[in-house]
Amino acid sequence: MRPPLSEIDSLPWEATYAALPDRFYARLGPTPVARPQWVRLNRPLARQLGLEPQSLAGEAGLAVFAGNRVPAGADPVAQAYAGHQFGHFVPQLGDGRALLLGELIDVDGVRRDIQLKGAGPTPFSRGGDGRAPIGPVVREYLASEAMAALGIPTTRTLAAVATGETVWRHSPEPGGVLTRVASSHVRVGTFEYFARRGDQAAVRRLADYVLVRHYPHCTWAPQPYQALLEAVATATAELIAGWMHVGFIHGVMNTDNLSVAGETIDYGPFGFLDAFDPGTVYSSIDHFGRYAFDQQPAIGEWNLARLAEALLPLLDDDPDSAVDRAREALSRYRPHFEAVHRAGLRAKIGLAEARPGDDDLVHDLLRRMAAEGADWTLTFRRLGELDGTDARGDDGFRQGFRDPQAADAWLSAWRARLMAERRSDAERRAAMRAVNPAFVLRNHLAQWAVDAATERLDFAPMERLLGVLADPWSDQPEHADLARPPEMGQAVVRTFCGT
Ligand code: AMP
Ligand code: MG
Repeated sequence: MRPPLSEIDSLPWEATYAALPDRFYARLGPTPVARPQWVRLNRPLARQLGLEPQSLAGEAGLAVFAGNRVPAGADPVAQAYAGHQFGHFVPQLGDGRALLLGELIDVDGVRRDIQLKGAGPTPFSRGGDGRAPIGPVVREYLASEAMAALGIPTTRTLAAVATGETVWRHSPEPGGVLTRVASSHVRVGTFEYFARRGDQAAVRRLADYVLVRHYPHCTWAPQPYQALLEAVATATAELIAGWMHVGFIHGVMNTDNLSVAGETIDYGPFGFLDAFDPGTVYSSIDHFGRYAFDQQPAIGEWNLARLAEALLPLLDDDPDSAVDRAREALSRYRPHFEAVHRAGLRAKIGLAEARPGDDDLVHDLLRRMAAEGADWTLTFRRLGELDGTDARGDDGFRQGFRDPQAADAWLSAWRARLMAERRSDAERRAAMRAVNPAFVLRNHLAQWAVDAATERLDFAPMERLLGVLADPWSDQPEHADLARPPEMGQAVVRTFCGT
């Protein structure tokens, strides 16, 4: 038996990214913090990574997750990337406050990046302090774990620690470090970084890296890079359809915040819908609604077009043919998004089969929800509790609409449509419970946990939310207060990057 201190020094680190050429990153270690303190270790995730939680939980783990000690075998780097921010190209962003410790192969054989976020300045900090306040650490922990439980591809959170130091934002706040686990941290902006420099060798090297790491089946395609673009487009379409189904608004879909692995990454001013309004924007810096809820599918496509531009030289020696290939690959995005999105919405209203008129039925409901301020999550959850033929129990559902009568005509049409379904009412209800969560990380709940952490280093609200959000599909009656929409005055209408 090794003593705990050395266990964390015998992790099977791999470093395929840090083995890429020097210009892909800056090699440096984290900046130690004053008085690190545990907030939380994600034990199930540690086990998924093949790690024994006990070996990470104590002082040795705390030192590693605070950035006070680089574990043996890790080779930390800050990754270089660029990106279009709100439509404007920024040639150099990069990890300004994050360090990739290395990669671990999880128990399913999947390679995972382990990254410290808030670990101190790097050559990419551009004047920033390289730190993270504890509030955004708590928000990202909650959101990433909630999304994972909802079955939406996402980065995860392995650990959160408080630093015992103060970071200055609008006011002094306690600092924190979050340990992020990702399929990789390659972004659309990573490709843009090299493409804009005219460094085609690096673009090719990165594309080959992504092919092998994320889309190995594409290496056999007649044109692997076209297949890669198509695969990223398909993954992105599915990701954004997933967001639309659970009412998630990313908030800053800049190309540097779009993973080529099709995972939700960079939880900043994100939010979940309460009352449905398709134009909902939470980000305080998104003045024109570029990243509003209903804009996300189109922005995904816009971002993919930036990836396509970066890949053009790899697609064909002849520029016109390269553009044709890019168009061809990108043309898969829309129809794929529509198909997945539609199927998901059909499932949300309990339809197992597709019939003409279903889209109209769905959109009629969405229109009424928007007009009557109906809550996104509760409306679908309650619909799943209604009887397929008997309208006598409809009141709870109807009361979710400002004018409950607005729901009646729709419910009649819905029941008429249900008659054409072959499965039983009980099966339909069970299926609806499995796609319409009872709990999402509502903004006022996230704010409650953030405030407690920021003001008092009190992580009890965070703990309670994590427990409930780990199983969003069950009713958990003892936590009914966390399923409710915000009351007047509780609603959070703006979220800040708060980074
Ligand atoms: P984000 O909005 O988190 O996607 O970050 C955009 C860019 O700003 C990235 O290059 C970040 O690394 C960088 N950044 C954000 N916050 C900080 C910070 N506190 N210190 C240094 N760089 C930062
Ligand atoms: Mg980012």
